[in-house]
Amino acid sequence: QQCIAVMTSGGDAPGMNANVRAIIRTAIHKNCKAYVIHEGYSGLVNGGDFIKEIHWSDVNGWLSDGGTNIGTARCMEFKEREGRLTACHNMINAGITALIVCGGDGSLTGADLFRAEWPSLIKELLDTGKITQDQFDKHQFLNICGTVGSIDNDMSSTDVTIGSYSSLDRICKAIDYIDATANSHQRAFVIEVMGRHCGWLALMAGIATSADYIFIPESPSKQSEWSEHMCKVISKHRERGKRKTIVIVAEGAIDSSLNPISCNDVKDILVEKLGLDTRVTTLGHVQRGGPAVAFDRYLATMQGVYAVDAVLNGNPDTPSPMIGISENKIIKRNLVDAVKLTKSVAEAINAKDFDKVMELRDTEFSE
Ligand code: ATP
Repeated sequence: QQCIAVMTSGGDAPGMNANVRAIIRTAIHKNCKAYVIHEGYSGLVNGGDFIKEIHWSDVNGWLSDGGTNIGTARCMEFKEREGRLTACHNMINAGITALIVCGGDGSLTGADLFRAEWPSLIKELLDTGKITQDQFDKHQFLNICGTVGSIDNDMSSTDVTIGSYSSLDRICKAIDYIDATANSHQRAFVIEVMGRHCGWLALMAGIATSADYIFIPESPSKQSEWSEHMCKVISKHRERGKRKTIVIVAEGAIDSSLNPISCNDVKDILVEKLGLDTRVTTLGHVQRGGPAVAFDRYLATMQGVYAVDAVLNGNPDTPSPMIGISENKIIKRNLVDAVKLTKSVAEAINAKDFDKVMELRDTEFSE
């Protein structure tokens, strides 16, 4: 009987609970035992009560819950081999044979590394007498699978990540609230939203709220040009009778000299050049909170079902899988390739190589 464990790792995202729920219930449905690891990789390294068998009714009501009920953490020990050796020992003691991780690119990199290193870890545990020959024989191979939980929608190889539509919904609602006061007082608001290397939230929120101007990391403008262009666009909107101005700035937005675009700089320009009564609002952690929207519940549930299938059908010769969605179909991708591509896009943005960014976006994905 397979014993499948699930953990959430990295930043929390609405829909992670729906993903955990679907993984647990699919595992049980397929006659496996289901386990949760509390607090991400720290739980794996600490063992004991952090690793628990879980039953069908334990996840009642989790489908819509925001955040992650099993906790998430950043764990430095797991980045070291020693930490992974302890994690391996704890997993074997708990009888776990497969691991599904819902997290960002860092968490999935850790999972793939753990899988690749597994044979040498179990060998060392056997040689040092920490596990028996029986345990060694039973745990020859670790099946893993990644699902992507990230509000930024910043993973390559998948159209959407779990949590991004919920976060977009929060942002749009917040901007709707701000709109009312902006309209009443004819004010301008500069609104900072999340997105370190990926402007998806800013761009989508900008379209969905008819913002006047948007700054995203992927499309920096020349320092000398953006202020003039922004003022021209906003003046035109005001001349047409618009009583409010909304500018959205992704937290990772940069100009072409790689300097961050600061909301306060944008505000100063709107005040000085256009004489607008301007306020800055940083939406912060409300963007992560609240229940998952219907799409995230659906996406997380379908991906949970596929993730269990992927670990049940995995073997040592196939690459680690990551579950995503492409053109409305749930798909399985090569996890390492997806993470590599994500990192290459971030590096190309940092290096101002925007032709490279566009080229990378056209990459053919592999299973
Ligand atoms: P987010 O996108 O929200 O930042 P993430 O999964 O990328 O999510 P990280 O902080 O990068 O978040 O990673 C979460 C945890 O995954 C780390 O604290 C660490 O325990 C593990 N991890 C990350 N990178 C590695 C790695 N290269 N090797 C081993 N473990 C790693």
